[in-house]
Amino acid sequence: MGKLAKHVILLIADDVSSRFFRKIYDEGKLPNIKSLGDSGIVSDKCVTTYPSITLPTQPNIMTGAYSGYYPKSGSGIPVYHWFDRDSNPPQYRHYSNLNALRQTHEIEGNVKTLFEQIGEGNSYSLVQYCSRGVTKIFPPNKFIAAIFFLLFVLLAKKPENSHKVVTKQLINVFKYPKLFFRNSQRPIASTAYYFLTDTLMHDHGFDSDRYIQSVLDLDDEVGKLITALKQLGIYDDTIIVFTSDHGNYKADQAKDLAPFIKSKGLIPYSKKTGTGDFDCSFGSVGFFNFPGTNKNWKVHPTLEEMKHFKPTDSDLKINLLDMMFEIEGVKFIYYRAENNTPDKGTIKIRFKNEDDKIHTAQVEYMGETTKYSFEDVDVYGYSKDPRASRIVDGNFHTIEEWLDHTYHLDFPMMPDQLVRYFINPRSCDIMVSTVATVCYNYEHGKTINTHVYSHDVGLRDSMYVPLVIGGGQGILTPKTLEYCKTTDIVPTLVELLGKKPHQSVRGKSLLD
Ligand SMILES: [Zn+2]
Repeated sequence: MGKLAKHVILLIADDVSSRFFRKIYDEGKLPNIKSLGDSGIVSDKCVTTYPSITLPTQPNIMTGAYSGYYPKSGSGIPVYHWFDRDSNPPQYRHYSNLNALRQTHEIEGNVKTLFEQIGEGNSYSLVQYCSRGVTKIFPPNKFIAAIFFLLFVLLAKKPENSHKVVTKQLINVFKYPKLFFRNSQRPIASTAYYFLTDTLMHDHGFDSDRYIQSVLDLDDEVGKLITALKQLGIYDDTIIVFTSDHGNYKADQAKDLAPFIKSKGLIPYSKKTGTGDFDCSFGSVGFFNFPGTNKNWKVHPTLEEMKHFKPTDSDLKINLLDMMFEIEGVKFIYYRAENNTPDKGTIKIRFKNEDDKIHTAQVEYMGETTKYSFEDVDVYGYSKDPRASRIVDGNFHTIEEWLDHTYHLDFPMMPDQLVRYFINPRSCDIMVSTVATVCYNYEHGKTINTHVYSHDVGLRDSMYVPLVIGGGQGILTPKTLEYCKTTDIVPTLVELLGKKPHQSVRGKSLLD
């Protein structure tokens, strides 16, 4: 370990795929970010969390951990929309708009944010709400956040300006720490979240001029930050990270799920009455929640109950598992086997092949190791690849082994990630995927738009994010990493500050 950093700054741009980033980076269109990369650590196969949705990917970056099973005090955030069976009455949760502020309360004490892991000293967070333990956050509360979003997103002709406001505020924290903190110490760790790139990606596409320009503009923001830190004389002691939470894809088509749901007699869960047959959010990956025995939403249904489910508006019982393949485009169905525990169990996989035949596979887990096996068809195609085929060997493997063997393929480290999602008691009962063929844009009983640009699947373009760790003088040894994962970022930053990552961290420092 060489010289330590005095400041670390983590910049997360929402929804920037590694493929696109790499292209403009190599074309010289991101000169400021490249100046960081040339002095530091770069990877274009930084593998994010599955499902590749803003949550859990961002909280997992901010904690260096996954949202799995934390039985003592609840659980991490499994996904952007989830069903809270413990609340009274049970209700679905999501993080759209001002609900984003709930994150800090809904990640539990078993994991620690970057700010909690660095301990004493000032820290600052801009628009990043998985920030428990931070000294100051902006916007500080729902009221100011509402004004901020209204001014820069809804009312502004050019909401992209919100990114400039974020950078300006970050620079001011370094310039005038006394205005932000009780003492005049500059923040040891700070984070800024550039959120608008995601809105532009969904609304206009990753191939639209407006989205492309918004990412190019971020390089100017990084340039302003570098210049300011140099003027203040602290650049040589500061490490800057530029990354994203997930990539993206364009689905073949958008479809409306509502008519299908109606045809089955299924009634969506109502927050008002606390009743209903199901709750669901569905992009290209769908998360279905059902009530347990006697339509009790406090508990998960058993497999038998899902196989003989009586919808409110139907006289017939239906098999919910079989029903999922009737939804156009659904290729994968995932669900828990009976009697799973946090330490041991099985996630069942059903896969519909191009010939419409259904094949089964499974992931067994023991502690934090997983074993993938299949009946007649390798649903992830690992066996066809010389490197990946070595890990389909009937043995249990760690996350590092899965990453090492499958990082270069679609569905990177998928067996590991499936289990980490499903052992969370807040996870859904049946997860399905159309693998980016059909996008449903369905949320809690309604189809909200006809977008075809999204992110959530296990394909590489959705699972890879760019990672550039640079800056400082004599702190980093320049290198290009063939692969890494987003949970490696926080342990790297914690180590650069001379501290030890918390025991819950599942990533590993990239400095070794
Ligand atoms: Zn996102």
